[in-house]
Amino acid sequence: MNQKPPKTLPRLYVTSALGEGLQVTLEKPQTHYLRAVLRLDAGKEVRLFNGSDGEWLGRIEKITKKTTELICHSLLKEQTEPRDLWYLFAPLKHARLDYIAQKATEMGASHLRPVKTAYTQVSRIKEERISANAVEAAEQCNLLSVPEIGSYVSLEKIIDTWPEDRALIFCHEGLDPGSPLDHIKELRYNSYAVLIGPEGGFSPDEITLLESKDFVIPISLGPRILRADTAGVAALALIQATIGDW
Ligand code: SAH
Repeated sequence: MNQKPPKTLPRLYVTSALGEGLQVTLEKPQTHYLRAVLRLDAGKEVRLFNGSDGEWLGRIEKITKKTTELICHSLLKEQTEPRDLWYLFAPLKHARLDYIAQKATEMGASHLRPVKTAYTQVSRIKEERISANAVEAAEQCNLLSVPEIGSYVSLEKIIDTWPEDRALIFCHEGLDPGSPLDHIKELRYNSYAVLIGPEGGFSPDEITLLESKDFVIPISLGPRILRADTAGVAALALIQATIGDW
């Protein structure tokens, strides 16, 4: 028997169905983590979630170097829908891209969307890398779902097909600094997205395009120019604290 309270047990995101008595097979990377890193063997318990069936306690039935077989045996948390909040960002390079995917997930973004802008330094991105970081953050923060990852397309294309009932909160360092709290609190859209630019900021044409749309809500994040990854966390905190889930 496992003596640990469920809260402290390892937590893994899986893609298979979860339910009373169902078997889950983990492939090599997760098996390696359980066996070689955490040194777990048969009989030990872990928590499992898949974004649709809630969080389950699973017991390891068999673990080899290559795979782990578990059986789900009790529901720990019912599935809930994540709050709908999109995070749009001009991707940064390497570790800072990892950072922003993790932090946006921790801050409750339900959809991560890299955006190509005029001054974006990154020409191609690995969506699997963003996804792996989002999974890791979701596992650590007790989320029941992992954000979806959108494909990497241009800002113009995104604006062209934008759903008009979703506000696009555009973080714009060129505005007069002032607290955006009152402004955000008064917004009455069905759903929201936040947009953060690249290190070089948005081009004048992009700013003109954004400012011409009714669904775009420009906000300032104060008198200092923030690095893009800091700006992302700050903006999500403001939104969660006013119209979000805090
Ligand atoms: N072009 C700028 C820096 C851009 S900072 C310059 O060098 O002057 C990267 C992104 O972070 C910006 O595009 C914006 O979306 C966001 N950002 C940074 N500081 C901000 C602030 N004070 N207010 C609003 N957005 C900010």
